[in-house]
Order: sequence, then structure tokens, then C-alpha cells
Amino acid sequence: MYTNFQKHLEKELQDIKDAGLYKEERVIVTPQSSDIEVENRQGEVLNFCANNYLGLADNTRLIEAAKKAMDERGYGMSSVRFICGTQDLHKELEAAISRYFKTEDTILYAACFDANGGLFEPLFTEQDAIISDSLNHASIIDGVRLCKAKRFRYANADMEDLERCLKEADAAGCRYKIIATDGVFSMDGNVAPMDKICELAEKYDALVMVDESHSAGVVGERGRGVAEKFDCYGKIDIFTGTLGKAFGGAMGGFTTGPKEIIDMLRQRSRPYLFSNSVAPSIVGSSIEMFKMLDESDELHDRLMENVAYFRDKMLEAGFDIKPTQSAICAVMLYDAKLSQDFAKEMQNEGIYVTGFYYPVVPKGQARIRVQLSAAHTREQLDKAIAAFVKVGKKLGVIK
Ligand SMILES: *Cc1c(COP(=O)(O)O)cnc(C)c1O
Repeated sequence: MYTNFQKHLEKELQDIKDAGLYKEERVIVTPQSSDIEVENRQGEVLNFCANNYLGLADNTRLIEAAKKAMDERGYGMSSVRFICGTQDLHKELEAAISRYFKTEDTILYAACFDANGGLFEPLFTEQDAIISDSLNHASIIDGVRLCKAKRFRYANADMEDLERCLKEADAAGCRYKIIATDGVFSMDGNVAPMDKICELAEKYDALVMVDESHSAGVVGERGRGVAEKFDCYGKIDIFTGTLGKAFGGAMGGFTTGPKEIIDMLRQRSRPYLFSNSVAPSIVGSSIEMFKMLDESDELHDRLMENVAYFRDKMLEAGFDIKPTQSAICAVMLYDAKLSQDFAKEMQNEGIYVTGFYYPVVPKGQARIRVQLSAAHTREQLDKAIAAFVKVGKKLGVIK
């Protein structure tokens, strides 16, 4: 009998709406890009809220590569990897990811959510410790929950607090310790201090895991991620990441690192063992994507130029911007309602940005998050900045 449960859900949903937390989907009727068209709205909208950092989501070369892979290797695998879901393409992509991150081996998942969800439980037991940044992504939090290891949590990127956790884990007699962190934190756009994290890891004999979802393709001299930025090759043990952001934006995730760890994941990681293999078209285009990144740093360079241009113009206009080290720019408004009004006004101006407030960010830290892309043209950036200035003046945020 559904009746009682239905009433319960109706009430819960109403509570979510009353709290202003109800999520509506925007329906896009064009490919994902820096300019899109959406349902129930005339004309083009500029998109500043996709994770399309390198602008590859509608890239012609990747689309062609996906078509070619589909022609040559079919539509789907209808199998998990180890039964009959592994093609030469899957092995080729795993090797390309290992080359990119300078690691020994890689295991593909359907998503980074699965990579993180299936990382800890096969490797660690109740004798071990997982030491996790307080702002880590939901998928790391869920992965940690699935594992019996003792949990320690340190304040975001706070190295003193991390050291406290390492000491506590030692005092608790933990056998192995692993520090887990996002590379770039998605709300502030700050980068985890991997050099200091690796120093502490050495001092306390801990492993290091970093989730490169928002950092790979973005941070570092050539966009190779946090290991490049902090010269931490050989010190970061495990990387996880997504093919759904800078790396083309389709879908798929991976864990890459030492061969024994990857081998163990192939034996015991549940999202790998019990979930379908990534489709050949996506695997084929991802191989092409790594080729493109190998050939040229142009997209990364353009992204960095766009971030610097946007940030400088916004600071000039008088906005309060969190010091970003990534493609995420947090325009601070502090007030929750203001952040929602601001985002709505921006939408009326044809600019899609997202307003975030408590509980997604700390109380009193409401903001507009702007995500920049290599696909944004100078004209599009200028249009967005002009809209920010217009709305900022109207709502009394700037003079
Ligand atoms: C987006 C994201 C994920 C999830 O990636 P999917 O491949 O979309 O599942 C995991 N971790 C972090 C840090 C992310 O930003």
C-alpha cells in the first residue's frame, strides 16, 4: 500500500520546497557548450555552470572518434569487464591514463563516483585509518562509509589539523593510514596543498589518495593535475578522476596508481565487478582526447587566460572573489537570499551561473559559482562580466 508512504513523501518534498532547496532541472535542447539553448526560453544562453573546462563536450574530433569506435567496436558491451566486457580499446584507454598521470596501471569505472565508492573497502580493514578532508566529494565520503577502517576528518586543507589526525591514528594503533583529498575543492576553487600533504604522509608513513575530478586538465603548468603543480610524482599513491569534466565530459571514471593496488581493485572492487563496462564509443573518444592533450596545451592555456581575464575584470569591478587556483571562481555574496536573487537576475540576462548557500557552503558564505571554460570567447566573457556589473549594481553588491 503506497498511500501512507506517498503522503510522507509529499510532505518531505514540500519541506524541501519551503526551505528553497528544491532542485529543478534545466532542459537544454542543444549540445553542451559555452552557449546553449534551453526549453521555455527564447534565444541563446551563456553557460558558466558546466564542468566543461577544456570545452571538449561538443568537440568535433571527439564526436568523430566516438562514431568510429561505435562503427568498429559496436554500441555496448552488455557485460562487466572481467566476464566479457573488455575490448582492446579499454586496455588502450587505461594505458593512456597511466601515461598521463605517470602511474603504473589504471582501472576504469562507469563513473568517478564508482571509482571512489569502490576504492577503500577492498584495500583497508578495521585495523586501518582513513583520514579525510572535511570538504571531500560525496563519493569519497560514501566510499569511506563502505569501508570498516577508522575514520578521521580534518578541516579543509588545514595541515595542522591533518597532523592531529595522523597522530590520533597512530595513537589508536592503526596499521595502515591513507590521507584522502579532492585535488580542487568545488565550492572555493582552492587546490589541496599536496606538497605539504605528501610531507606529512612521509613523516607519518601514510598513503596519499587524491581525487582529480576538478583538477586534472586544469591545474599544473600543462594542466596535468596536482602532481604536476606540486611536483609530487611518486609521492601521491592513488589518483581517481572522471572523464565527465575536463576530459571530454561524457562519462566514466578511473583509479590509477601502483600496479598491486589496481590489481587488487580488479579482484575486489564492487562497482568494477558488478557494473557494466564503459561503452566503446566513449572509450574510443577518450583515447582520442588524451591524444589531443598530448599534442597541444592550447586548450589548457586558453582556459587559464580566460580564468585570469574573468577574475581580474571582476575584481576591478569591485566584486569579492575567492582566490582561485582552478577554473572555479566563487563570487562571494555571503547572504543566502541575495545569492538566489542574483543567480535569477543573471539568468534573466541570459547568463547561467549557480548560487550556493548553506548547507552546501558554510552559513553566511553564500556565493555565485562561476565555472570557466576554454570554450568561452572573449565576447562571451565580456557579456558575462557586464551582466555581473549590471546585476551587482541593481542589487547593491557593488557601487
Ligand atoms: C564530479 C566529481 C565526482 C563524480 O564524477 P562522476 O564521474 O560524474 O561520477 C567525483 N569526485 C569529485 C571530486 C567530483 O568533482
